[in-house]
Amino acid sequence: MDYLPIFLDIRGKRVVIDGGGTVAARRAERALAAGARVEVYDDRLSDEFHPLEKDKNLTHVRRPVTEGDLAGATIAYGASEDPERDARLHAAAKTHGVLSNVADVAEYCDFITPSVVDRAPLVVAISSGGAAPVIARILRARIESLLPPAYGRLAEFVGRFRDQVSETIRKTVDRRRFWETAIEGPVGDLFLAGSAKAAERQLKAELEAIASGDPGERLGEVYLVGAGPGDPDLLTFRALRLMQRADVVVYDRLVGDDILALMRRDAERIYVGKLPRQHTMEQEDISQLLVDLALKGKRVLRLKGGDPFIFGRGGEEIEKLAAHDIPFQVVPGVTAAAGCASYSGIPLTHRDHAQSCVFVTAHGKDGVLGLDWDMLVRPQQTVAVYMGLSNLGHLAREIVEKGLSPETPVAIVDNGTRENQKVIVGTISSIEEKAREAGIRGPAVIIIGSVVQLHDKLEWFSKREESHYSHFRMSLRPQDSL
Ligand code: SAH
Repeated sequence: MDYLPIFLDIRGKRVVIDGGGTVAARRAERALAAGARVEVYDDRLSDEFHPLEKDKNLTHVRRPVTEGDLAGATIAYGASEDPERDARLHAAAKTHGVLSNVADVAEYCDFITPSVVDRAPLVVAISSGGAAPVIARILRARIESLLPPAYGRLAEFVGRFRDQVSETIRKTVDRRRFWETAIEGPVGDLFLAGSAKAAERQLKAELEAIASGDPGERLGEVYLVGAGPGDPDLLTFRALRLMQRADVVVYDRLVGDDILALMRRDAERIYVGKLPRQHTMEQEDISQLLVDLALKGKRVLRLKGGDPFIFGRGGEEIEKLAAHDIPFQVVPGVTAAAGCASYSGIPLTHRDHAQSCVFVTAHGKDGVLGLDWDMLVRPQQTVAVYMGLSNLGHLAREIVEKGLSPETPVAIVDNGTRENQKVIVGTISSIEEKAREAGIRGPAVIIIGSVVQLHDKLEWFSKREESHYSHFRMSLRPQDSL
């Protein structure tokens, strides 16, 4: 991190602005909104100052800044767009130990001004460290569209009860959990739906319940969450929210570091990864671990690659939870076949090629695949094979024996949706050799069927660095995604 983010209490303090143009007006507006006494130095002020002129905290001084003006100021902005004045302002600020920011002159900036989403008292400030202000602004627009205006009022509401809650709930951890449950539960729902009074009643009732009884031994919860195939952008909003809420994450090999980085920072991490044929922890033990953690009152995030209910044994894990009456929820994720198909430009169904698609796993002991071959060789169908790389040769030979043409197109998508994604295209008869040559190691999905022919035309991910594509990205509408 190149800069230290802080929120400054500037109420009643002096802010000096040298310049009277557009940039100066923006700086003045924000400083006034935060309650500062703002002095603007310039012969004249642009029209953009009109709405601010009535503010009694704004003073217009009809000349450029001189050194003495900086004495006793808290911060100073250079906004004159005149290099000589900028240099003078910076030097004067240094003399008086005042932090300064000069628009567009990095070496004269002790601090930078973030893009701001204002839902006072809730404020989101975004910075790209000066490297790419446009990205910060785009992000700001997206956050604007995500945060309902009532969020600010909700923060105010929560603020009103802070002391009362602190008196009733002494432990910080318990307090945080209380607020999270309240805000994301009925209290928050009622408030955002416009029933502030009902929200207040609910909050008080919850507090009383805590004050009167002993809610210490509360049961934990388990969230079985699909993390998608790799690209963190493919997480669902709910996955992200629960990742921010959980006390402990239990994850396996397919979940990458860039996804784990989105967990709440102080969450405990337990790795139960499995390498093929090397079981770090038996399935039974994992299920037991989830039960034990939940019985200790933890909110447990069981994070799995792709979708938890597709070749993820998620069902087995929650059966045990259900047997122990432990509350759980399941959050779907983008399954590997879907992610690989999209990121390799191979539609799994297509009117001209395939009217159905089957997902199978070719993971079998000693090459015994145990697949329903008659189903796999049906025409007009796409077959997506999970865990098939180590049995590829066997699979290819057997499927031809069972009647599929050796010329059927096949793609292997290795490390799909990740930066190092590789797509290898061939036919059933050539694919084993090609995979060996390419030296891929998985995880990989094998896609079999004539839809693979579309890859040449529709692949886009490998071209993402090309200029027309970056243009396309920048022009995404703010509400499209975050
Ligand atoms: N529940 C997961 C699948 C787990 S089985 C899901 O829904 O995706 C593990 C198999 O998933 C791997 O052997 C591989 O076939 C596939 N897989 C997982 N992530 C992948 C990725 N990023 N690229 C290609 N295949 C992947």
